[in-house]
Amino acid sequence: MSDQEATTETEHTLRTPIVAVLGHVDHGKTSLLDRIRGSAVTAGESGAITQHIGATAVPLSVISDIAGELVDPTDFDLPGLLFIDTPGHHSFSTLRSRGGALADIAILVVDVNDGFQPQTLEAIDILKRTQTPFIVAANKIDTVPGWNPNENQPVQVTMDAQSDRVTSDANEKLYEIIGELSDNGFSADMYWRVQNFQANIGVVPVSAETGEGIPDLLTVMMGLSQRYMKEEMEIDASGPGVGTVLEVKDTQGFGTTLDAIIYDGTIRADDTIVVGGLQGPIVTDVRALLRPRPLEEIRTEQEFEQVDAVAAADGVKIAAPDLDDAIAGAPIRVLRDRDRAEVIAEVEEELSEIEVTTQEEGVVVKADTLGSLEAISSTLAEEEIPIMRAEVGAVAPRDVRVAETANEPTHRAILAFSVDVLDDARRLAEQEDVKLFEDDVIYQLVEGYDDHVTAIEESQQ
Ligand code: GDP
Repeated sequence: MSDQEATTETEHTLRTPIVAVLGHVDHGKTSLLDRIRGSAVTAGESGAITQHIGATAVPLSVISDIAGELVDPTDFDLPGLLFIDTPGHHSFSTLRSRGGALADIAILVVDVNDGFQPQTLEAIDILKRTQTPFIVAANKIDTVPGWNPNENQPVQVTMDAQSDRVTSDANEKLYEIIGELSDNGFSADMYWRVQNFQANIGVVPVSAETGEGIPDLLTVMMGLSQRYMKEEMEIDASGPGVGTVLEVKDTQGFGTTLDAIIYDGTIRADDTIVVGGLQGPIVTDVRALLRPRPLEEIRTEQEFEQVDAVAAADGVKIAAPDLDDAIAGAPIRVLRDRDRAEVIAEVEEELSEIEVTTQEEGVVVKADTLGSLEAISSTLAEEEIPIMRAEVGAVAPRDVRVAETANEPTHRAILAFSVDVLDDARRLAEQEDVKLFEDDVIYQLVEGYDDHVTAIEESQQ
């Protein structure tokens, strides 16, 4: 292709902002995502809302239907919002793009009755570290005593300081959340009093149960994306695809496949791709690009249909040889007419960008993804717990061999996050008196280790 052709083919458009949902367990992340999908379906426009791999796209037309008087679609030139389907900060920190967070904006869900909990604080730390703009969904507002449910209505229109709907109970609980945000260094207020959503955090009362406040939530998300992220949203829609691996898994009939989000350019069914793997970049040829079929078709056909191309921002399942070593959270680059060595170097650099400082002495950390490794190491750094080895993958005997070289008794430990422990490794750890900590919640993992350290210190006194 000549340079001139390449130039005319370049097509700069605004991509769909990618939204993640975070918050403490049981505060309503899944329900909120379901409700947003549900509202979108109810808002009509059959076929407008599309289920993808790992993400749900809600187009602007549907958002403006849901938001009613709150959103004038002519005010926006972004195509809609792409919600990452797996909520929680584990998936959030796994989903990286060019060293930052894959999600452009986030919804932090806080149960209005339960307030801030350990995972809320963890989520806030991660959002701060990745500088991701977010709003707070004060969920389960329907359960506050005296609250008059007003289903599927915007709360702003029906609720203000003078309204009889703001019971003293509701006010008190919402202001507790605002207070917690301020304790964590944010200026926050009820969203309709916030002028600048990037400098201040807006709190939106919602109910995933009744749908109340969902219009407001979507409106604020659109406003936030439109005003502050427009430049970063510019993509070259026809260029070689750039994305992130969400998950590596077996798909019947296709072997090991990647669930991926493509956030720039296009991936085609005949492309060669470079993917981050445990042993370094993997170069492989796409065998098929897959999309879920609508439910009614699955009965008679395979669960997935093959497509020729997928453009940003969108989710896709990629089938290709040699993907066994690929890591969730690693980058994907389409080679197409790009220089092979350059692309490989790019992927290598992104893989090495993970900020884990290891030292001569310390504990061993094993995790399922680069992102979670990074999140755990930052939590350990806050507690001044040194790390000797930090790696993605199952706990193997060699990890125990490393852990047993620690001089400090408290450092003879392996913290395993969402990974398997090989039988040999477990046996060896017991034999060599290396303590194993396993969990899939970061704060619980670190808490377990902290308790162990306290016990050792007390026994030494
Ligand atoms: P997650 O762990 O954060 O994904 O939380 P879930 O979405 O699984 O919700 C936890 C529980 O809270 C479930 O029993 C939900 O039905 C309930 N729940 C979620 N949102 C609301 C809400 O707005 N109002 C009420 N009353 N219950 C809710």
